[in-house]
Amino acid sequence: MAIVIYLDMDHFFTACEEARNPSLKGKPLVVGTASEEKKLRGVVQTCNYEARKFGIHSGMPTSQAYSLCKELAYKESDDAYYQSISDRILSMLKAYGFPIEAISIDEFAIGLGKEGYGSAILLAKGMMSSISSELGLACTIGISFGKTMAKMVCDDAKPAGLASVDEHSAAGFLHDKGVEKIPGVGLKTYEKLRGLGINTMGDLAATDPQKLLSAFGSFGGYLYSLSRGQLADKVSDSVPAAASLSREKTLDAPTADISLIEKEILELASILAKNAGDAGLVFKTIGVKMRYSDFTEKVKSRSFLHYTGSPSLLGSAAAKLARSFPLELPVRKVGVRISSMAGGKGQRKL
Ligand SMILES: [Mg+2]
Repeated sequence: MAIVIYLDMDHFFTACEEARNPSLKGKPLVVGTASEEKKLRGVVQTCNYEARKFGIHSGMPTSQAYSLCKELAYKESDDAYYQSISDRILSMLKAYGFPIEAISIDEFAIGLGKEGYGSAILLAKGMMSSISSELGLACTIGISFGKTMAKMVCDDAKPAGLASVDEHSAAGFLHDKGVEKIPGVGLKTYEKLRGLGINTMGDLAATDPQKLLSAFGSFGGYLYSLSRGQLADKVSDSVPAAASLSREKTLDAPTADISLIEKEILELASILAKNAGDAGLVFKTIGVKMRYSDFTEKVKSRSFLHYTGSPSLLGSAAAKLARSFPLELPVRKVGVRISSMAGGKGQRKL
């Protein structure tokens, strides 16, 4: 059976904030979508482990989080920055040469082919230490014989853990695990399972599969084979040739003239649209970066609801983003990036 390494970054958004602002380390911190001024009207997106000790969790109103912890630090969510870190993790992992599936911005499944558990553990240790040394971020890795199993092993080993479960230890690992721990089981399915007297994976494994199929359809088949340690779902190599494409340009002379800046941005956008088109890639997210004369950088991004490859849409979105930047200082370098990509014609170099 092909072994899967499942890598999940620990409290990703707050960890990214701590990485660029080390004074936040060790303090309770949340990231939310609301701006700093309106934070009490927003919702917690991610919290670090220090904040979790106060009972704070994601999805909680930020006002409630503050009532649990007065010293709570707050950061507004910076999607472009988190995506850029995610892109770097992905390219580091791709360098190992195995098929990779980006499950989400901070979760990756890597299919190992013929490697055994011993070499999988060595590879996983290497991945953890390079992510830690290059990016200052911690992750947890689960290793098992299928993608879903590896995810469950990973969830169980959080935070900063590394664990593996092979075919022989699967039954013991699964037996007492609550059914709410199964990937894909939401509140509704959980309640339905409880209603059938099924509380643990062991209960599931002992249930007549026909009963599960009639109650849950094909999802019942998934539940049954997972509980029996027989689900060896493979990693599909869904990552396109490039996770993102970007182009930058240093201006001839620093300027705060928005029409000059916009012209450069439009030029970069049209080059990128052509590169993406040539490679058969579509994208959902576009980002614009400006570096000011004091070498500080700002990045802004927006995501479309649907994939697009349209050069005119890319150009107009990039120009609009460019106009939303503050221009108190002259700009010396501009950049455009597209990410959240799909499609592609194989592993060609861009
Ligand atoms: Mg995570």
